Amino acid sequence: SGEEQRPIEEEMTPHVLMFPFPIQGHMPPMLKLAELLSNVGLYVTFVNTEYSHRRFMHHSSALARLEQRPCFRFRTIPDGLPEDDPRPALHFMVIEESLRTRSRESYRELLTPTIGQDPDGWPPVSCVIADAVLPLALDVAEEVGIHVLIFRTGGACSFWAFHCIPELVKVGVLPFPEDANLDEIVSSVPGMEGFLRRRDLPSFCRDVKSSDNIFRLLKTVTTNAARAEAFIINTFESLEAPMLSHVRSLCPITYAVGPLHTFVKTSIPQNELDSSTNSVNMWEEDCDCIRWLDMKLDKSVVYVSFGSIAVLSREELMEFWQGLVDSGKQFLWVVRPDLVAGGSGEKDTIPEDIEEGTRQRGCIVGWAPQDEVLAHPAVGCFLTHSGWNSTLESVTRGVPMICWPFFTDQQVNSRFVSAVWKIGVDMKDKIGRSIVAETINNVMDGEGEELRRSTVEMAEAARISVEKGGSSYIDFLKLVQHIKSFCR
Ligand code: UDP
Repeated sequence: SGEEQRPIEEEMTPHVLMFPFPIQGHMPPMLKLAELLSNVGLYVTFVNTEYSHRRFMHHSSALARLEQRPCFRFRTIPDGLPEDDPRPALHFMVIEESLRTRSRESYRELLTPTIGQDPDGWPPVSCVIADAVLPLALDVAEEVGIHVLIFRTGGACSFWAFHCIPELVKVGVLPFPEDANLDEIVSSVPGMEGFLRRRDLPSFCRDVKSSDNIFRLLKTVTTNAARAEAFIINTFESLEAPMLSHVRSLCPITYAVGPLHTFVKTSIPQNELDSSTNSVNMWEEDCDCIRWLDMKLDKSVVYVSFGSIAVLSREELMEFWQGLVDSGKQFLWVVRPDLVAGGSGEKDTIPEDIEEGTRQRGCIVGWAPQDEVLAHPAVGCFLTHSGWNSTLESVTRGVPMICWPFFTDQQVNSRFVSAVWKIGVDMKDKIGRSIVAETINNVMDGEGEELRRSTVEMAEAARISVEKGGSSYIDFLKLVQHIKSFCR
């Protein structure tokens, strides 16, 4: 009878606990995966820290809808950081350290509730999906004997570069000599022999010693991924097949399930609930910029954003600004409240021609609905810091990029964008109003058509990969089977 079957079914339903690194670039892809797993009927507990819970819940109504699902819940644990703590740039390491020491016990308690004591009557956690840059999530799960899968929010190209860095140190390529020519090719990263220059290695390679902690953390990222039962990565075969095969030499069970933000309601079975986790933000989206875009001609606007953690110096900000104005193009620019290191300076120091050019052709917002912006017909190119999410979003919307990477994986990503996929140009390490204006004009008018064609082709490949029968679709279903195997 039905009554007899019910407990058996419940015993068979896996319960996945997901623990993301609590920053903007990591929450949306993890949440999207959580949503998809919940769509196929799994129990999902999603771990927030107090800070991320406050910030994301406040600005993302999609989360409240997600929380109403019977098999989805958030759990919040302390992060040990002050409430108004600033979060840009290398604060990453401060968060990591604080979580490592201050969140450990609460996290362990989530994994080891007293049997039969789950407040919602859920089965115990059958596996953890841990953010690759959060060693704590893996360590504690292993201590208590729970299966762990590692999730990487970045690309395969940078992951593979991270993995090869210790070897570069061993063979003496790193650290660079003091007078190093950064344009010299690094021939010892398998798969990147012909095109990877010193300047394309992750930023911390330029000064290995002073960024020792981040160097250690990124080493842990790749060793942990190899240690886990499986590796999940937000990329797709058509974009990164060669890099994925290198990754699989290290992590044999790798599920490439990206670009996660494009998985749509209809592509995954048993999904009848409506909740879009695509709009998950730590800042309030300024949607007026969409109305501003509505008034512009097709492909006439440069969209500029440096993501959620990159910071510019005041001088860099002014060079970009002047370059944007000098380009004569329309521009939509995301200037986060904390974009400029040490504050944004006095308003009255802005030269008049910049003020005037911005009034005529610019729109500056604190935070944009980025995917909607990139999908807008008025947008002609994306001046980006080459964060992985931004890169995937630009690819899937067929928008060519101008890359100005800031740190970590962004140097590698931008090299792949320009030299491998040929869907953008790389402006790394160059700054100055004239180069900014010149590059913008080149991409908007010159090389742009060619770049757009390859980007649109890649967008199509991305779309196919998440549709029924596509590589990411299939990998997602394999991942679900893998998780279900823990309950057999
Ligand atoms: N983003 C956004 N609005 C903005 C700027 C960024 O929604 O005005 C989103 C963007 O769509 C992306 C994320 O913030 O999903 C940034 O992630 P990414 O990996 O590109 O860079 P990070 O912030 O981690 O450096």
